[in-house]
Amino acid sequence: MRPIAIAIDGPSGAGKSTLARMTAKKLGFIYVDTGALYRSVGLYTLRRGVDTKDREGVAALLPDIDIEMRYDDRGVQRMILNGEDVSDLIRTPEVSMAASDVSAIPAVRAFLLDTQRNMARKYNVIMDGRDIGTVVLPDAQIKIFLTASPAERARRRFRELREKGVETSFEEVLRDIELRDRNDSSRDIAPLRPAPDAVMCDTTEHDLEASFGLICEIIRERTANGL
Ligand code: C5P
Repeated sequence: MRPIAIAIDGPSGAGKSTLARMTAKKLGFIYVDTGALYRSVGLYTLRRGVDTKDREGVAALLPDIDIEMRYDDRGVQRMILNGEDVSDLIRTPEVSMAASDVSAIPAVRAFLLDTQRNMARKYNVIMDGRDIGTVVLPDAQIKIFLTASPAERARRRFRELREKGVETSFEEVLRDIELRDRNDSSRDIAPLRPAPDAVMCDTTEHDLEASFGLICEIIRERTANGL
């Protein structure tokens, strides 16, 4: 039997990673955070001093990049970039923007595609991103498109960054979210949009527990109807 794949797509700050992590734990699946792959390429590009919007410049760097996803004893994903653990370094607002820029480059998306598909070939996964249900795993048995209003997403992201000790303001986070939404939805390659067979899930009015309940309900329904 082929492994089970649950795809969770949606804009930044909709709660994808937290909810996907909780769901993976409950189901005993592996959680794959695909944004971390784009963030790692973004970080590498910044470090090399290449303009993150320069398609040829970034594409030329790809042969020098080796990205590995590892999982520690608690099942937490660690990102290893050319042998260095960059899991924490990729979480800054600067790297978020760089990730959004490089993710619009077709060569970058092609470069990261196999890494993502290989995970789903081997394990039961819950994978979050922007194009998992549409491009990476179009055959995923369950697809969820998670959204929330931009202001609510900015509030959540701001809280999260503050807890991690990242210096930023709410206005800056909101601006970043709106800009990234625009970038992610308007790019010609793999734009952010729900797969036709995705279940829509808006969490604006729901806290974490309630949102988790919604996700579990969607999975229960889909599973009851046969995958
Ligand atoms: O999900 P996260 O905010 O970590 O993703 C960082 C950036 O990577 C996003 O703004 C998006 O542009 C890009 N991304 C993508 N496709 C994915 C995951 C992330 O284009 N599957």
